[in-house]
Order: sequence, then C-alpha cells, then structure tokens
Amino acid sequence: MKILIVEDEAKISEYLRQGLSEAGFAVEVSRNGLDGHHLAMTQHYDLIILDVMLPDVGGWTILKSLRDAGRDIPVLFLTARDSIEDRVKGLELGADDYLVKPFAFAELLARVRTLLRRGVTKAAEPVLNALDLELDLMSRRVTRAGRRIAITAREFALLELLMRHHDEVLPRSLIASQVWDMNFDSDTNVIDVAIRRLRAKIDDAFEPKLIRTVRGMGYMLDTSGEG
Ligand code: CA
Repeated sequence: MKILIVEDEAKISEYLRQGLSEAGFAVEVSRNGLDGHHLAMTQHYDLIILDVMLPDVGGWTILKSLRDAGRDIPVLFLTARDSIEDRVKGLELGADDYLVKPFAFAELLARVRTLLRRGVTKAAEPVLNALDLELDLMSRRVTRAGRRIAITAREFALLELLMRHHDEVLPRSLIASQVWDMNFDSDTNVIDVAIRRLRAKIDDAFEPKLIRTVRGMGYMLDTSGEG
C-alpha cells in the first residue's frame, strides 16, 4: 500500500512519514503543492494525505484536479483551520475524510486504515443505486426500499443496463443488442414484455416509478423522483 503525503511543514510531514513507514506503508512525501500535484496526477497511490494550506498550489486545487480527471483515489485532508466551511468544502470537492491539526498519530492511522479498507470493499462488491433501488452485482440481489425482489437473470441484465445508464433514453435496438444479443426486430415485443414484468416487480408497489416509457424512442430509468 502506497501513500502520498503532501505537506509543507517539515515537522508534520516527517512525523507522518516515519509513523506510516513503521506501520508498514510505502510512503512518498512532497513538501510543496506543485510536486504534490504532479505526483498525485501521474503516479499510482492507494491514498493521499493532503494538507490544505500549501504555499504554492493549494490542497483544494490538487483535490479538484484529481476528481476532475476521474481519479477516485481516497483523499484524507489535513486542516489547521477548525472551521465548518473548510470541512464542508473539502468533502464537497470529493475528499473522503479530514483531520484537524493537531491530531494524534493513532487517530490518523485509524482513518487511513478505514479509508483503505473502504476502497478495497468498493472494488470487490460493486453495488448500483437508483433512489431506493439497489442492485448488488456480486450477490445478484435486488432490493427496493430495503425489500428483496426476486428477479430472473434476463431481468437482472436489463435492470443493470438501465441503471448504468440512468436518466438516458435507451432505444429498444440498444436494449435488444445488449441484453438479448440480438438485432432489434420490430415485429417482436420481447423487450416490452420484459419491461412490463420488470415494472411489476420494481415499480408497481413503490413510488416514485423508476422505469419510464419514452414514446417512439425507448425506455429510461428516471431518478428525478417525478415518475
Ligand atoms: Ca501547511
């Protein structure tokens, strides 16, 4: 497990480097924002510990660049300012957790371990969500509002496609090729029948309705809550 620390204060960065190395992590330290930004964007790390107040490129800029580039590596930020605004801003920009200086090393280590564990779990057990509908790709389990819904393999594939492209209109031809592996034949109503069965399971007993028919175009999983 490799951790990048971006922290300009020598005392803190050295304290972190030493502690995390002793805890068994491979640690790289950047003492300025410019190098930290470059490393974060180009190298692989399992976690980044990011100081907010850096003299050149600030922590928020680094965090924003990472998230804008779609890099979803866990980020724990350190802030000296014990202000609510700072914490809200960091979390809004996509940080996973924060610590207010000064902090105990044991506390930092506990946060680091939790974030790393969460990252692993996320990759191993992907779950798709749309409002209160949940699709667990590993256990093949579907629930809505916490209630288990029995579903066939074909319906599961259809629902997975709709959920992966929620709020996009999916033409019947696309659904046919992705779920049935066949070319769309306008004489067959297999898709409409499958959608009707799926609706009976995930929509009939619930509000709002998620599956929407877009006349003349196809179907859409609507997460606006207006269905
Ligand atoms: Ca600093």
